[in-house]
Amino acid sequence: MNKFEQLGLNESLLMAIKDMGFENPSEVQEKAIPLLLDQDIDIVALAQTGTGKTAAFGFPLIQKIDAENKSTQALILSPTRELCLQITNEIKQYSKYVKGLHTVAVYGGASITEQAREVKRGAQIIVATPGRMQDMINRNLVNIKNIQFCILDEADEMLNMGFYEDITAILSDTPDEKKTWLFSATMPQEVARIAREFMTKPTEITVGHKNQGAVNVSHEFYLVGARDRYQALKRLADANPDIFSVVFCRTKRDTQAVAEKLIEDGYNAAALHGDLSQAQRDGVMKAFRGRQIQMLVATDVAARGIDVDDITHVINYQLPDEIETYNHRSGRTGRAGKTGTSIVIVTKSELRKISSIERIIKNKFIEKPIPTGMEICE
Ligand code: ADP
Ligand code: MG
Repeated sequence: MNKFEQLGLNESLLMAIKDMGFENPSEVQEKAIPLLLDQDIDIVALAQTGTGKTAAFGFPLIQKIDAENKSTQALILSPTRELCLQITNEIKQYSKYVKGLHTVAVYGGASITEQAREVKRGAQIIVATPGRMQDMINRNLVNIKNIQFCILDEADEMLNMGFYEDITAILSDTPDEKKTWLFSATMPQEVARIAREFMTKPTEITVGHKNQGAVNVSHEFYLVGARDRYQALKRLADANPDIFSVVFCRTKRDTQAVAEKLIEDGYNAAALHGDLSQAQRDGVMKAFRGRQIQMLVATDVAARGIDVDDITHVINYQLPDEIETYNHRSGRTGRAGKTGTSIVIVTKSELRKISSIERIIKNKFIEKPIPTGMEICE
């Protein structure tokens, strides 16, 4: 009996888990799965990014859904369209041996009528962004009055993005008897407030320390002159020919400009930001996942929660306005037990921000010299 069997998962899930190549449950999965399978409770689960939270709620959810009943039974709220699609794909993979189970992604930037039609065709699980979900409810395109499960995934990020009102409005539209499962990397005030106001005596699961950053990530900074940022980025790319990275910029405009410069200079790069159409964003993500793009230049909003395996470097081309965002950025690497490097390119005037970040991540940065031309030629 492997460890997944011991958690009480059924045969169809075990088969899918085998296909995906998961050998052992992660810590949050080990804690959450048996609890959620055995008991009808609300839970708050805190675990840093990359620890397998999707499966921690996805496996028990799939096992608890009645696939023969075509009505909507579960709603998963997630912060961005990219994450919605990612979760939907994961759930579809997990449930591939469960006949009759349908999952639909509901997010902005795509046809609302088409999404509503898919829901009507009989989707037991809806994975939605709060904005589009609220829109659908307002237009009477969806009925969540009888759902049994509501999952708030990446709750801290959703609230960071200003979805408090939408989330509370949606929750008010669900039955009191439903169970709420809240998953988050951190527990800021707003998350605690949601738990207090909308959940019933939630059982709390914590993996690692609260508010801690990813553990397999080493943090480095490179000190540059104000005009040398781009040059430094190129040197970093040259020094790491197999780099597979997300490069974070502060604005859509800088994101676009840096990506264009990289492409002009012959790098495999692309931009990801909110001014692109949904089809463009999907195309970029597909190319990035497929490794046709080595450097994805992105804004924080566009890159939120993206789970792409084996990202070697997260590069903070510019530091975020809110230093807490650094945790979310660096969490794109070092996922699923792998190691990664999170790099910050800083100017002298920004150096003090490094020590503030060190306090948040409870970890030290290593200062590195920008690779010289010599090292790159070697
Ligand atoms: P989180 O939501 O905690 O940030 P994800 O659910 O996105 O993390 O999972 C991160 C990665 O780890 C995904 O690629 C996922 O497929 C993988 N993963 C999840 N659980 C396991 C496991 N038990 N064994 C191996 N890989 C896993
Ligand atoms: Mg997640």
